[in-house]
Amino acid sequence: MGGLSLTGPSPRVKCSLPGCKRLFQTAAAMEDHRWASHNLPIGGKASCGFPGCNAWFDTKEQLKQHGEDMHPEAPKPWVCQECGDLYRTEAGLDSHCVVMHSVSRIPSTKRHEIETAFLRAWAKTETAPRRVHEVLAISTSQLAQTLHNDYAEQVRKQAGGSHQDVRCLQDGNVRIRFHGSGMKCSLGLHGNTSLCPEPDCGVCGILRSGFRSKKIRTDAFQRFGTGFYLTSASGKANDYAWADDHTMGRHGLRAMLVCQVVAGRVYRTVNNEPLLMRPPDQYDSVVGEVGPVLNYDEIVVYNKRAILPLYLVIYSA
Ligand SMILES: [Zn+2]
Ligand SMILES: [Zn+2]
Ligand SMILES: [Zn+2]
Ligand SMILES: [Zn+2]
Repeated sequence: MGGLSLTGPSPRVKCSLPGCKRLFQTAAAMEDHRWASHNLPIGGKASCGFPGCNAWFDTKEQLKQHGEDMHPEAPKPWVCQECGDLYRTEAGLDSHCVVMHSVSRIPSTKRHEIETAFLRAWAKTETAPRRVHEVLAISTSQLAQTLHNDYAEQVRKQAGGSHQDVRCLQDGNVRIRFHGSGMKCSLGLHGNTSLCPEPDCGVCGILRSGFRSKKIRTDAFQRFGTGFYLTSASGKANDYAWADDHTMGRHGLRAMLVCQVVAGRVYRTVNNEPLLMRPPDQYDSVVGEVGPVLNYDEIVVYNKRAILPLYLVIYSA
Protein backbone atom coordinates (compact mmCIF):
# COMPACT_ATOMS: atom_id res chain seq x y z
CA MET A 1 0.00 0.00 0.00
CA GLY A 2 1.45 3.33 -0.98
CA GLY A 3 1.30 6.03 1.65
CA LEU A 4 -0.95 9.01 1.08
CA SER A 5 1.15 11.97 0.04
CA LEU A 6 -0.13 15.23 1.46
CA THR A 7 2.69 17.36 0.21
CA GLY A 8 2.92 16.50 -3.49
CA PRO A 9 6.17 16.85 -5.40
CA SER A 10 8.67 19.17 -3.78
CA PRO A 11 8.74 22.65 -5.35
CA ARG A 12 11.73 23.24 -7.63
CA VAL A 13 11.29 26.51 -9.48
CA LYS A 14 12.88 29.36 -7.55
CA CYS A 15 11.58 32.91 -7.83
CA SER A 16 13.90 34.59 -10.31
CA LEU A 17 14.02 37.85 -8.37
CA PRO A 18 17.38 38.03 -6.59
CA GLY A 19 16.85 37.94 -2.84
CA CYS A 20 13.47 36.16 -2.95
CA LYS A 21 13.73 32.54 -1.86
CA ARG A 22 10.21 31.33 -2.66
CA LEU A 23 9.97 27.99 -4.51
CA PHE A 24 7.20 26.83 -6.84
CA GLN A 25 6.02 23.64 -8.53
CA THR A 26 5.88 25.13 -12.01
CA ALA A 27 7.34 28.03 -13.95
CA ALA A 28 3.79 29.36 -14.42
CA ALA A 29 3.18 29.41 -10.66
CA MET A 30 6.48 31.20 -10.17
CA GLU A 31 5.52 33.73 -12.81
CA ASP A 32 2.17 34.35 -11.10
CA HIS A 33 4.01 34.92 -7.82
CA ARG A 34 6.59 37.16 -9.49
CA TRP A 35 3.84 39.33 -10.82
CA ALA A 36 1.68 39.25 -7.71
CA SER A 37 4.44 39.69 -5.15
CA HIS A 38 6.92 41.83 -6.98
CA ASN A 39 4.79 43.34 -9.74
CA LEU A 40 7.35 42.08 -12.26
CA PRO A 41 6.48 40.12 -15.37
CA ILE A 42 9.27 37.77 -16.51
CA GLY A 43 11.97 39.55 -18.51
CA GLY A 44 9.97 42.76 -18.25
CA LYS A 45 7.17 41.11 -20.22
CA ALA A 46 4.07 39.12 -19.33
CA SER A 47 3.19 35.93 -21.17
CA CYS A 48 -0.35 35.22 -22.30
CA GLY A 49 -0.25 31.84 -20.57
CA PHE A 50 -3.06 30.39 -22.68
CA PRO A 51 -1.99 26.86 -23.75
CA GLY A 52 -0.34 27.02 -27.18
CA CYS A 53 -0.20 30.84 -27.30
CA ASN A 54 3.26 32.39 -27.21
CA ALA A 55 2.30 36.06 -27.07
CA TRP A 56 4.14 38.38 -24.66
CA PHE A 57 3.13 41.83 -23.46
CA ASP A 58 4.62 44.88 -21.81
CA THR A 59 1.60 45.82 -19.74
CA LYS A 60 -1.29 44.13 -17.99
CA GLU A 61 -3.72 46.22 -20.06
CA GLN A 62 -2.32 44.79 -23.32
CA LEU A 63 -2.51 41.30 -21.88
CA LYS A 64 -6.12 41.82 -20.82
CA GLN A 65 -7.10 43.15 -24.24
CA HIS A 66 -5.33 40.25 -25.95
CA GLY A 67 -7.17 37.73 -23.77
CA GLU A 68 -10.55 39.28 -24.58
CA ASP A 69 -9.80 39.44 -28.32
CA MET A 70 -8.01 36.14 -28.87
CA HIS A 71 -9.21 33.73 -26.18
CA PRO A 72 -12.84 34.57 -25.38
CA GLU A 73 -13.34 30.87 -24.55
CA ALA A 74 -10.63 30.93 -21.85
CA PRO A 75 -11.80 30.78 -18.23
CA LYS A 76 -12.41 34.26 -16.85
CA PRO A 77 -9.47 35.64 -14.91
CA TRP A 78 -9.64 36.42 -11.19
CA VAL A 79 -10.14 40.15 -10.64
CA CYS A 80 -8.83 42.07 -7.65
CA GLN A 81 -11.82 43.99 -6.24
CA GLU A 82 -9.44 46.58 -4.85
CA CYS A 83 -7.42 47.62 -7.92
CA GLY A 84 -8.78 45.68 -10.89
CA ASP A 85 -5.65 43.60 -11.53
CA LEU A 86 -6.23 40.27 -13.24
CA TYR A 87 -4.88 36.86 -12.25
CA ARG A 88 -4.98 33.50 -13.94
CA THR A 89 -5.36 31.63 -10.67
CA GLU A 90 -7.13 32.25 -7.38
CA ALA A 91 -3.81 31.64 -5.62
CA GLY A 92 -2.22 34.36 -7.76
CA LEU A 93 -4.97 36.81 -6.79
CA ASP A 94 -4.75 35.85 -3.10
CA SER A 95 -1.03 36.40 -3.07
CA HIS A 96 -1.47 39.77 -4.81
CA CYS A 97 -4.06 40.90 -2.24
CA VAL A 98 -1.81 40.00 0.68
CA VAL A 99 1.19 41.79 -0.79
CA MET A 100 -0.53 44.85 -2.23
CA HIS A 101 -3.57 45.40 0.00
CA SER A 102 -2.60 44.29 3.52
CA VAL A 103 -2.13 47.89 4.62
CA SER A 104 -3.90 51.05 3.50
CA ARG A 105 -4.08 54.75 4.27
CA ILE A 106 -6.76 55.88 6.72
CA PRO A 107 -8.80 59.09 7.13
CA SER A 108 -6.92 61.80 9.05
CA THR A 109 -9.35 61.79 12.00
CA LYS A 110 -8.75 58.07 12.54
CA ARG A 111 -5.03 58.56 12.07
CA HIS A 112 -5.04 61.30 14.69
CA GLU A 113 -6.88 59.03 17.13
CA ILE A 114 -4.33 56.20 16.76
CA GLU A 115 -1.40 58.62 16.86
CA THR A 116 -2.67 60.15 20.11
CA ALA A 117 -3.22 56.73 21.70
CA PHE A 118 0.28 55.63 20.64
CA LEU A 119 1.95 58.75 22.10
CA ARG A 120 -0.11 58.69 25.32
CA ALA A 121 0.76 55.02 25.89
CA TRP A 122 4.52 55.59 25.60
CA ALA A 123 4.96 55.52 29.43
CA LYS A 124 8.77 55.46 29.30
CA THR A 125 10.44 58.55 30.67
CA GLU A 126 14.01 57.76 29.51
CA THR A 127 13.10 57.90 25.82
CA ALA A 128 10.45 59.89 24.03
CA PRO A 129 8.86 59.28 20.65
CA ARG A 130 9.78 62.17 18.37
CA ARG A 131 7.19 61.99 15.67
CA VAL A 132 4.57 59.71 14.14
CA HIS A 133 5.38 59.53 10.46
CA GLU A 134 2.51 57.38 9.22
CA VAL A 135 -0.38 55.26 10.47
CA LEU A 136 -1.72 52.53 8.20
CA ALA A 137 -4.75 50.30 8.69
CA ILE A 138 -4.11 46.56 8.46
CA SER A 139 -6.58 44.35 6.60
CA THR A 140 -6.42 40.77 7.73
CA SER A 141 -7.67 37.90 5.60
CA GLN A 142 -11.23 36.71 6.08
CA LEU A 143 -9.84 33.42 7.36
CA ALA A 144 -7.61 35.05 9.99
CA GLN A 145 -10.52 37.19 11.18
CA THR A 146 -12.80 34.18 11.44
CA LEU A 147 -10.20 32.21 13.41
CA HIS A 148 -9.71 35.18 15.74
CA ASN A 149 -13.47 35.59 16.30
CA ASP A 150 -13.90 31.85 16.86
CA TYR A 151 -11.08 31.95 19.39
CA ALA A 152 -12.72 34.87 21.23
CA GLU A 153 -16.03 32.99 21.27
CA GLN A 154 -14.36 29.87 22.65
CA VAL A 155 -12.64 31.90 25.38
CA ARG A 156 -15.91 33.64 26.19
CA LYS A 157 -17.69 30.29 26.59
CA GLN A 158 -14.99 28.92 28.87
CA ALA A 159 -15.21 31.96 31.14
CA GLY A 160 -17.59 31.80 34.05
CA GLY A 161 -16.96 29.06 36.59
CA SER A 162 -15.13 30.45 39.58
CA HIS A 163 -13.70 33.39 37.64
CA GLN A 164 -16.94 35.16 36.68
CA ASP A 165 -14.94 37.81 34.87
CA VAL A 166 -17.43 40.21 33.33
CA ARG A 167 -15.12 41.24 30.48
CA CYS A 168 -14.43 37.58 29.67
CA LEU A 169 -18.11 36.78 29.46
CA GLN A 170 -18.75 39.86 27.31
CA ASP A 171 -16.15 39.61 24.57
CA GLY A 172 -13.35 37.32 25.75
CA ASN A 173 -11.62 40.26 27.48
CA VAL A 174 -10.39 42.12 24.41
CA ARG A 175 -7.51 44.57 24.92
CA ILE A 176 -5.57 46.89 22.64
CA ARG A 177 -1.82 46.28 22.98
CA PHE A 178 1.44 47.15 21.21
CA HIS A 179 3.99 44.85 19.59
CA GLY A 180 7.39 45.99 18.32
CA SER A 181 9.04 44.02 15.54
CA GLY A 182 11.91 44.20 13.07
CA MET A 183 11.64 45.84 9.68
CA LYS A 184 13.78 45.21 6.61
CA CYS A 185 11.92 47.30 4.07
CA SER A 186 10.33 50.70 3.61
CA LEU A 187 6.68 49.78 4.09
CA GLY A 188 4.79 52.95 5.01
CA LEU A 189 7.52 55.22 3.65
CA HIS A 190 6.77 57.57 0.75
CA GLY A 191 3.37 55.97 0.24
CA ASN A 192 4.78 52.43 -0.08
CA THR A 193 2.01 50.04 0.96
CA SER A 194 3.25 46.75 -0.52
CA LEU A 195 4.82 44.03 1.62
CA CYS A 196 8.41 43.01 0.91
CA PRO A 197 9.52 39.41 0.14
CA GLU A 198 12.38 39.55 2.67
CA PRO A 199 11.99 36.50 4.96
CA ASP A 200 13.58 38.33 7.91
CA CYS A 201 11.25 41.32 7.76
CA GLY A 202 9.24 40.77 10.95
CA VAL A 203 6.50 43.27 10.20
CA CYS A 204 5.82 42.00 6.65
CA GLY A 205 5.95 38.42 7.97
CA ILE A 206 3.24 39.14 10.54
CA LEU A 207 1.11 41.01 8.00
CA ARG A 208 1.53 38.17 5.50
CA SER A 209 0.91 35.15 7.71
CA GLY A 210 0.10 36.39 11.20
CA PHE A 211 2.21 35.86 14.29
CA ARG A 212 4.31 32.75 13.75
CA SER A 213 5.46 30.33 16.42
CA LYS A 214 8.38 29.37 14.19
CA LYS A 215 9.70 32.89 14.57
CA ILE A 216 9.78 32.73 18.36
CA ARG A 217 13.41 32.69 19.45
CA THR A 218 13.62 29.72 21.78
CA ASP A 219 17.33 30.33 22.35
CA ALA A 220 16.72 33.77 23.83
CA PHE A 221 15.48 34.30 27.38
CA GLN A 222 11.69 34.47 27.37
CA ARG A 223 10.42 35.85 30.64
CA PHE A 224 7.07 34.10 30.41
CA GLY A 225 8.00 31.24 28.11
CA THR A 226 7.27 30.51 24.48
CA GLY A 227 4.47 32.87 23.51
CA PHE A 228 3.62 36.12 21.78
CA TYR A 229 4.46 39.23 23.79
CA LEU A 230 2.58 42.52 23.75
CA THR A 231 2.40 45.45 26.14
CA SER A 232 0.20 48.41 27.03
CA ALA A 233 3.29 50.69 26.93
CA SER A 234 4.26 51.65 23.38
CA GLY A 235 7.60 52.83 24.80
CA LYS A 236 8.34 49.29 25.97
CA ALA A 237 7.28 47.73 22.66
CA ASN A 238 9.76 50.18 21.11
CA ASP A 239 12.58 48.18 22.77
CA TYR A 240 11.77 45.33 20.37
CA ALA A 241 11.32 47.45 17.25
CA TRP A 242 14.25 47.86 14.89
CA ALA A 243 14.75 48.77 11.26
CA ASP A 244 17.37 47.91 8.71
CA ASP A 245 20.00 50.63 8.22
CA HIS A 246 19.45 50.51 4.47
CA THR A 247 15.72 51.22 4.58
CA MET A 248 13.63 52.68 7.43
CA GLY A 249 16.53 52.84 9.83
CA ARG A 250 18.33 55.24 7.52
CA HIS A 251 15.56 57.75 8.19
CA GLY A 252 15.57 56.99 11.93
CA LEU A 253 12.18 55.33 11.62
CA ARG A 254 10.73 52.16 13.13
CA ALA A 255 7.42 50.34 12.96
CA MET A 256 5.03 49.15 15.65
CA LEU A 257 1.88 47.07 15.45
CA VAL A 258 -1.27 48.06 17.32
CA CYS A 259 -3.13 44.82 17.99
CA GLN A 260 -6.38 43.57 19.39
CA VAL A 261 -5.69 40.78 21.90
CA VAL A 262 -8.18 38.36 23.40
CA ALA A 263 -6.77 38.17 26.92
CA GLY A 264 -9.45 35.86 28.33
CA ARG A 265 -8.81 34.72 31.88
CA VAL A 266 -5.59 36.38 32.94
CA TYR A 267 -2.94 34.71 35.10
CA ARG A 268 -1.13 37.58 36.84
CA THR A 269 2.41 37.27 38.11
CA VAL A 270 5.36 39.41 39.15
CA ASN A 271 7.87 36.55 38.74
CA ASN A 272 9.70 35.13 35.72
CA GLU A 273 8.16 31.91 34.40
CA PRO A 274 10.40 31.11 31.42
CA LEU A 275 9.33 27.47 31.01
CA LEU A 276 5.71 28.19 30.11
CA MET A 277 4.59 26.79 26.74
CA ARG A 278 0.91 27.57 27.34
CA PRO A 279 -1.04 29.51 29.95
CA PRO A 280 -1.52 27.76 33.32
CA ASP A 281 -4.69 25.60 33.56
CA GLN A 282 -7.92 27.59 33.66
CA TYR A 283 -6.22 30.66 32.15
CA ASP A 284 -5.91 32.04 28.61
CA SER A 285 -3.05 34.51 28.98
CA VAL A 286 -0.25 35.55 31.31
CA VAL A 287 0.24 39.15 32.40
CA GLY A 288 3.57 40.13 33.90
CA GLU A 289 2.79 42.98 36.24
CA VAL A 290 5.08 45.80 37.24
CA GLY A 291 7.22 44.58 40.12
CA PRO A 292 10.71 43.31 40.92
CA VAL A 293 11.40 42.00 37.39
CA LEU A 294 9.33 44.35 35.20
CA ASN A 295 9.08 48.12 34.86
CA TYR A 296 6.24 47.90 32.35
CA ASP A 297 3.51 45.31 31.99
CA GLU A 298 3.59 42.54 29.41
CA ILE A 299 0.79 40.31 28.18
CA VAL A 300 1.67 36.92 26.72
CA VAL A 301 -0.69 34.75 24.68
CA TYR A 302 0.32 31.33 23.45
CA ASN A 303 -2.15 30.99 20.59
CA LYS A 304 -1.57 33.27 17.62
CA ARG A 305 -5.31 33.40 16.95
CA ALA A 306 -5.66 35.50 20.10
CA ILE A 307 -4.05 38.43 18.24
CA LEU A 308 -5.49 40.53 15.44
CA PRO A 309 -3.18 43.30 14.14
CA LEU A 310 -5.15 46.51 13.52
CA TYR A 311 -2.72 49.34 12.73
CA LEU A 312 0.88 49.87 11.76
CA VAL A 313 2.51 52.97 13.24
CA ILE A 314 5.67 54.30 11.57
CA TYR A 315 7.48 56.63 13.96
CA SER A 316 10.82 58.01 14.99
CA ALA A 317 12.13 57.56 18.52
ZN1 LIG B 1 9.62 36.19 -5.33
ZN1 LIG C 1 -2.77 34.44 -26.06
ZN1 LIG D 1 -5.31 44.59 -6.18
ZN1 LIG E 1 9.06 44.21 4.87
